[in-house]
Amino acid sequence: MPEPKQRHTKSRRNRRRSQIKIQQKVFSICPKCKQRVLPHQMCPNCGYYKGRQVIDVLAKLEKRERKQKEKEIKESEKEKVSEKSLTMEDLSKK
Ligand SMILES: [Zn+2]
Repeated sequence: MPEPKQRHTKSRRNRRRSQIKIQQKVFSICPKCKQRVLPHQMCPNCGYYKGRQVIDVLAKLEKRERKQKEKEIKESEKEKVSEKSLTMEDLSKK
C-alpha cells in the first residue's frame, strides 16, 4: 500500500474541505403544469416530457386520488389560459 510521504497541514486540509458543500439543485419549470422539475427529465407531476406524454400518471392512482388529480390538472390548464389572456392584454396595453 502506498503511504503518504508527508503529513498535510491543517491549512491544506481545510482548503480542501472548504469546497465540500451542498449545492442547490437547478430546476426548470414544466411548461404543462408549471411545477418545478429537474432538467432533461420527465415531469413527475404530469408525466410529460418535451410536449408528449411519457407515462400515464393517473394509471397507478386509486379512484378518489385520480379524481383529485384530474381536477388539479384541469385547474392548472384553466390558470394557464387565463394567464395567457392576461399577458396578451398587457402586451396590447403596452
Ligand atoms: Zn408537468
